[in-house]
Amino acid sequence: MEHPLCCFCGGTRPATTLDHIPPKACFPVGFWPDQFEFPSCSQCNNGTSRHDTIFGYYSMLLDFNEANRTAKDRDRLLHLGEEIRKRYPEALPDVTTLKPVYRVGRLFAPAPVAISLARKPTMNEAVQTIGEKLAHALYYREMKKILTRNHRFFASAYQIQDPSTHTLTDYFKQQFPDLTIGARSSIKSYGSRFAYRSGFKSEEDFFIFAAQFGYGLILWGMVLGAGIEVDPSNGALKDMRWRNGGCGLGSEAPS
Ligand SMILES: [Zn+2]
Repeated sequence: MEHPLCCFCGGTRPATTLDHIPPKACFPVGFWPDQFEFPSCSQCNNGTSRHDTIFGYYSMLLDFNEANRTAKDRDRLLHLGEEIRKRYPEALPDVTTLKPVYRVGRLFAPAPVAISLARKPTMNEAVQTIGEKLAHALYYREMKKILTRNHRFFASAYQIQDPSTHTLTDYFKQQFPDLTIGARSSIKSYGSRFAYRSGFKSEEDFFIFAAQFGYGLILWGMVLGAGIEVDPSNGALKDMRWRNGGCGLGSEAPS
């Protein structure tokens, strides 16, 4: 009753379901974090199920937090892998491109701290879709209002182990020290599975977020209110995939 409209398609449709963002597929069964359920129309909720599965699989596969390698995690990963093999085989990782990563910033580790693999278009598409959904969900959670078509926004992703992204990670840590940690009250040793940082300037309707999946994938993005433009001298930001909010993330996006 308090959340009558879908927060993913710009408030244009009534919310008839609760959508889990991050998707349940990012966690072992029963480990989805409390309070990350969002009002959604059925199109926005069900329209991304393929992306949920593919993103969930990669977010778990690329998590190098040893504590998140329990039997429950392994079961989940195997199950997701099977589902992808059956239903979306084109999204399976190309194991011939697997490379161990030994370096974290300027430090070299004796054992691999991560793997890198060539990103397939199907994986990119899933990461993009879930990143865009997360942008809508976190904006709604923090700003208590809907990201609409009058907003411009982007969502992007990187692996925390990638040395070229450490400046960005440090920037988030320094600028937005408050970390919101996903957890589940019924599970005592929940571990570090999902957390995010965010910041905003209400007068410009500016919002920024970075969300981390274990010790692996980071999804981050930015939202700008109507009439605010990206500084054209900022090449990195200008080149992001900016689009209008409320874009309808389901298979039947509103036109
Ligand atoms: Zn919707």
